[in-house]
Amino acid sequence: MSYDRTNVFARILRGEIPCKKAYEDDHVLAFHDIHPQAPVHILVIPKGEYVSLDDFSAKATPAEIAAFVRAVGTIARDNGLAESGYRILANHGPDSHQEVPHLHIHIFGGKPLGRMLSNG
Ligand code: AMP
Repeated sequence: MSYDRTNVFARILRGEIPCKKAYEDDHVLAFHDIHPQAPVHILVIPKGEYVSLDDFSAKATPAEIAAFVRAVGTIARDNGLAESGYRILANHGPDSHQEVPHLHIHIFGGKPLGRMLSNG
């Protein structure tokens, strides 16, 4: 799948639409999900053009990968989730119901999250 520069997260990265920023560095932007599914629900995205973890894991530079993983941990700690716990999730492709075709990791926390996947 080729990268679609009109996707909503590309538009956030270009500053065309606003976001509630949670973190930023040279390689990474994070912002609060517009429809939060937990008291803390933050989306972490690379600034590079990657559709999902599939092409990020294959094509991103070591610096991009390191920054992305470190950012997830930093954001969780900075939002007070390291002790209480949190869940990360990244959807790839149709079976996952990925809606936005720019890699994003969801960080959920702030309440007990139940077990793994819903069966719905
Ligand atoms: P996914 O189904 O994994 O692709 O998740 C896409 C997520 O993006 C959903 O949780 C949406 O609520 C969220 N989302 C869509 N548009 C925006 C936006 N403009 N700002 C913040 N979050 C958004």
